[in-house]
Amino acid sequence: MNGYTGHTLWVDLTRGTTTVAATDDQALKMVLGGRGLGIALLTKLAPVGVDPLAPENPLILATGPYTGSGVFSAFFNVTTKSPLTGLAAASHCGGKWGPAFKRSGFDALVITGAAARPCYLVLENGRAALKDADHLWGLGTLATEAKLKADHDGAEVACIGPAGENLVKFATLMNSHRAAGRGGVGAVMGSKKLKAIVVKGRIGTDIFNKEKLKAISSQGGKKAMEVAQAFAKFGSSIAFDFFNAKHTLPTRNFRGGHFPDGSLINAQALKDKYFVKDRGCLTCPLKCGNVHQVKDGPYKLEEVEGPEYETLMSFGSNCGNSNLESILMANLLCNDLGMDTITCGNIFAWLMDLQESGIITADDLDGTAMKWGQHESMLALIPKIAARQGIGNLLAEGSYRAAARWGPSALARVIHAKKQEYPGYESRRSFGTGFSLATSSRGACHLRAQLYVNELFVGEFQEKGFEAHMDTLLDKEHFLAIADSLLTCKFGMRNAGYTWPVLTDLHNALTGADLKIEDLKRIGERIWTLERLYNLREGVEEDMLPSRFFAEDLADEQPGGDRIDKDRFVAARRMYYQARGWDLLGRPEAQKLLELGLA
Ligand code: SF4
Repeated sequence: MNGYTGHTLWVDLTRGTTTVAATDDQALKMVLGGRGLGIALLTKLAPVGVDPLAPENPLILATGPYTGSGVFSAFFNVTTKSPLTGLAAASHCGGKWGPAFKRSGFDALVITGAAARPCYLVLENGRAALKDADHLWGLGTLATEAKLKADHDGAEVACIGPAGENLVKFATLMNSHRAAGRGGVGAVMGSKKLKAIVVKGRIGTDIFNKEKLKAISSQGGKKAMEVAQAFAKFGSSIAFDFFNAKHTLPTRNFRGGHFPDGSLINAQALKDKYFVKDRGCLTCPLKCGNVHQVKDGPYKLEEVEGPEYETLMSFGSNCGNSNLESILMANLLCNDLGMDTITCGNIFAWLMDLQESGIITADDLDGTAMKWGQHESMLALIPKIAARQGIGNLLAEGSYRAAARWGPSALARVIHAKKQEYPGYESRRSFGTGFSLATSSRGACHLRAQLYVNELFVGEFQEKGFEAHMDTLLDKEHFLAIADSLLTCKFGMRNAGYTWPVLTDLHNALTGADLKIEDLKRIGERIWTLERLYNLREGVEEDMLPSRFFAEDLADEQPGGDRIDKDRFVAARRMYYQARGWDLLGRPEAQKLLELGLA
């Protein structure tokens, strides 16, 4: 098929075998690739109720037809059963690895089993080899990538750090300073004793209409450069001031939505004091990844990419921390050790909240005092979590599970949906965005619907309220499922103004298919429904907001921010299920499954 290599690599690490097989054409027609192919394969291959860290849990890396074909096309997707949530984890990642993986000759890589000793995979021009990784085990992601690139000229490297090796439940997979960040995919890779995947090659894919693809792609890049100059200059950190001004910036473990010291840790502060150069994913004109340096002081560092908005929130405002250099260092440590900055920062905010509330003391944390803004303590705990050392062993489980040690009052202060810590959007002042975090198919996640764009950037829900726009949420959920399956960058394509007609044209130019917009929408809904079916099979928790949002007003002396009426939330959820053709418990009805070709 045009747009695909036609080959999938199957690796059984228990047996030490690698097998090349044809990619399932029928599956690609149903779900395109990337995230869609990931959930289809996970549903088929993972035993019901499998322990996410057991050898039987497959780790699936997949590209899409767009990977490597134009601007915003550097992405790949990782799917597995999440050790953090127990749901399908689908994490997409930019950088350079995705296109190089495809050029090595494969659409997808399915890894099952577990090796007896540390190993890494080398893929080149349709061939695969497993190699010993004893010498790499224990290294950070930066050193691992550098060493493997030195050993494999011209290759790209995706790898885990010590956090993944030690099965930290929010460990990441890294490449080129970019993370497949959420859900703990790095821990699943660590459970398989697989340190890295090295890829290189020159295998091309056939494109049905190169001229048209090039036209769409270059027009998108040009438009994005015109409308997103601030994003190109500052990256996602540009959003920090916006959300602070809207009073929707999580502050002090979601006690408030406004951080008075915001100007000390915003995009301008980063640019003024620490900026070195731009960096971006392969072929992207926006280059949103700013590289920073701290020249001296306790947090001196040579180079770190980011932090992004979410990291400024999680280690900054949400911890009451206005020391920007400590945030830069926390970002570097997490990237190098291979841990998700959103979950890690939220854990610290929660610990500070627990100490402030008198639920725990420093004695509960190996003598570590965690007061608001106490960045020295945060930075001391990060390596302990990655190494599962002392209290780090408990915190490596994520805040939901760690709360069990300190009882119901500690659990009540965790801000999570389906056991995954929240991204940077305060729901009490953005009900629709909060609602979308509760219904997200991988636990709290802003990238499943990006509803903050509609609600906060554009203000679409102001006049009639979110409930009058339920169709918008469904449409966004399906649209972004397609973006994750064709595989394009959500930031890039939003700035390029990509809509359903553009994605449909893009797909057809790549593959030669003659899909209509409605066909693509149906595929998006199919992917979303497959994820729901998988999560139901694995005992998905209720779609629900954190209990504090129904019980506490925001305490930031800004207008609004009253607690959410739970009846309003439950009524909205009923509308959402109805709009989806799901029953009252959120299970897809038989008719809906028939419509989507899933029954
Ligand atoms: S906008 Fe940023 S994340 Fe997206 S492709 Fe460009 S550099 Fe990568």
